[in-house]
Amino acid sequence: MSTIDGKLYVVATPIGNLADMSFRAVETLKQVDLIAAEDTRHVKMLLQHYGITNRLVSLHQHNEDKAALALLEKLRAGQSIALVSDAGTPLLSDPGMPLVKLIKDAGLDVVPVPGACALIAALSAAGLPVSKFTFEGFTPRTSSARKAFFAEKVASPITWVFYESSHRILASLQDMAEIVPLDREIVIARELTKLHETIVKTSLADALERVTHDDNMRKGEFVVIVDGAQIDKKEQSISAEHEKILSILLKECSIKSAVAMAAEITGARKKLLYQAALAMESAKNI
Ligand code: SAM
Repeated sequence: MSTIDGKLYVVATPIGNLADMSFRAVETLKQVDLIAAEDTRHVKMLLQHYGITNRLVSLHQHNEDKAALALLEKLRAGQSIALVSDAGTPLLSDPGMPLVKLIKDAGLDVVPVPGACALIAALSAAGLPVSKFTFEGFTPRTSSARKAFFAEKVASPITWVFYESSHRILASLQDMAEIVPLDREIVIARELTKLHETIVKTSLADALERVTHDDNMRKGEFVVIVDGAQIDKKEQSISAEHEKILSILLKECSIKSAVAMAAEITGARKKLLYQAALAMESAKNI
């Protein structure tokens, strides 16, 4: 296969609906010399569906470092390899990172063949802000570690997203409800692209209620999206009176001292006072 020799193709596969396979993904899997798959038995179903009869090798988290070195040698010898995981985009909470890093560091080409990804599918239909978000992967396994994780996220002003399994969705929401305000908007995206696809946008309290009482809401695969914390607009600026105190102090001392004293006197946030002081000083120089 002369056109794509010596490259690693990172190929996304469906997350539940076999039709979500791009034309280019099928062509790539047909044409490469070798397909490295997380679970070769699992991927065989997909390959059969698309009439792909290519060679498979296994690359999973337990053999990844060793397998990656062997694949690097094949690429160096001019072979082309496709990397696939069990579902969705490789590397996203799936194996592949050590291999891609090794190949990039060796100066060889890694080519993405994009497609399904549960995270992106969920965000695209959630109706929560997506211009910025953080992806957290799976939540920690123990309740105490999960609570610590939620405590770290609770004040984040931007949308955050995590993956969850059917075994832990209820426990995870219960832990979240102890830390995150119950009126926070969240989206539970379940079984995306499959027969029982469910995307619920509601408060944390209601989501917990539904998952507790509806058995179906604990089945399948989950993406959970949480709205960012709403920041009080008043906390983003200082009052006219505080500004006046700051400007008087600035006449007498350095920015650092004026800000420190103004914070002491007014109780306003140092960061906001500092920004205001800088603005006042630069206005003076205009
Ligand atoms: N690499 C995959 C991707 O691109 O989304 C994710 C693999 S990760 C091992 C599997 C987790 O992704 C599931 O436990 C679930 O949280 C999420 N997931 C995968 N498919 C999903 C689907 N159809 N609906 C909802 N969540 C899904």
